[in-house]
Amino acid sequence: MTVRVRFAPSPTGMFHVGGARSALQNWIYAKQQGGVFVLRVEDTDAARNRPEWTEGILSALDWIGIERGTYEGPYFQSQNAGEHRAAAQRLHDSGRAYYCDCTREAVQARSGSQYAGYDGFCRDRGLPPGEGRALRFRTPDEGTTVVVDLIRGEPTFENRLIEDFVIARGDGSPVFLLANVVDDMTMGITHVIRAEEHLPNTPKQQLLWDALGVKPPVWAHVPVVVNEKRQKLSKRRDKVALEAYRDEGYLADAMRNYLMLLGWAPSGDREIVPWSVIEEEFRLAEVNPSPAFFDEKKLRAFNGEYIRALPVPEFVAACQPWLTGTATIAPPPWQPEQFDADAFAAVAPLAQTRIAVLSEIVPNVDFLFLDSPLIDEAAWAKAMKEGAGELLDAATAAYTALESWDAESLKSTLEAVGAERGLKLGKAQAPVRVAVTGRSVGLPLFESLEVLGRERTLARLRAARVRLP
Ligand code: GLU
Repeated sequence: MTVRVRFAPSPTGMFHVGGARSALQNWIYAKQQGGVFVLRVEDTDAARNRPEWTEGILSALDWIGIERGTYEGPYFQSQNAGEHRAAAQRLHDSGRAYYCDCTREAVQARSGSQYAGYDGFCRDRGLPPGEGRALRFRTPDEGTTVVVDLIRGEPTFENRLIEDFVIARGDGSPVFLLANVVDDMTMGITHVIRAEEHLPNTPKQQLLWDALGVKPPVWAHVPVVVNEKRQKLSKRRDKVALEAYRDEGYLADAMRNYLMLLGWAPSGDREIVPWSVIEEEFRLAEVNPSPAFFDEKKLRAFNGEYIRALPVPEFVAACQPWLTGTATIAPPPWQPEQFDADAFAAVAPLAQTRIAVLSEIVPNVDFLFLDSPLIDEAAWAKAMKEGAGELLDAATAAYTALESWDAESLKSTLEAVGAERGLKLGKAQAPVRVAVTGRSVGLPLFESLEVLGRERTLARLRAARVRLP
């Protein structure tokens, strides 16, 4: 039997990092089993049926390495609506489902509770279909439903505790629970690897598989992803969109490596491993069922390591979207014609060791391309204390007279200028750095001045001096 797995996102306008994790796990499982990965867009909610959202899903998958053309699909749940209705009809015809005209209020009034499930009032009324009548599944009164789950063992559910749930609404449209099962059935899915959030649906869905006469799939419910407060990641509170990480400059390799660590780890004492190792070593059965902490700080540190490991030309290439303004976040503050690729190449190795996400390249190098630096006023106030004016004068004079404009000479010259005033290099450096780059932190100063060149450095020192008493 060929293993067939699927990733079945509901379009929401963004791609949840937890979804990306499930997609990768499905992808690897299919690969390891010589199976097939199917993409199905669960678009039956009309409000969710926007073509750009589907495009967003496809491009997010591309980005993490699940490239279009290498899997089956995308299929769209809405295209299978006929099958969903036919299955509902079959369940009714075989007596496994019945029509119900109870309102929520009526059910609540009978049970005296707002929370009680459906009480089976219409089970034996034999109502024909009709406007406003929902179709309910007749759950067995006895026995248990045992879910075979590769991660969780065999969660077992008492059938009598499962209410007669709705499978088609009053307008005849099948609900998600049924549509999802029918799609898996028509697509020959053998393994359903999905988020833990769906586990409460699983016994109901398995009952539907049984009632429709098809052997249910093997399940694997991967752990819920939580924030540092152990709350389920929510799009209102947490940064959950894969696109947000991509746009900030997380590397796809770092991201997918990190995502695979949510609930699993490769052998040995390592976390950063090549994708080929993950593909080889990952075992669904080894995934820890407990909630997985999505640690943004750790991901950031991870990304920094991935950035540092890039060969310099690859790092330069990876920075381009942020340098040229084609990244979908704010464009850089310089005009395209101000950008100087050689100057960037000269400082790139210095920047590479200092940034954790690629978008951080911009504030590190903007001083090189702008006519005058963007001054951080707080940094200015701190650096330009008493004596700064004189120090800048002395530095300007010494730099004007400097024979060789190289980092080493620039450093020793400023060291000497500082020493004359009883200042250590760090102190002498601060006003120069802010005058030239606008900031108190950044790339190594003297290498920066070397690349910036004498004329522009001196002009900036003089411009800063004018602002000082
Ligand atoms: N469309 C569902 C979701 O995005 C997935 C259901 C499933 O994987 O079975 O949560």
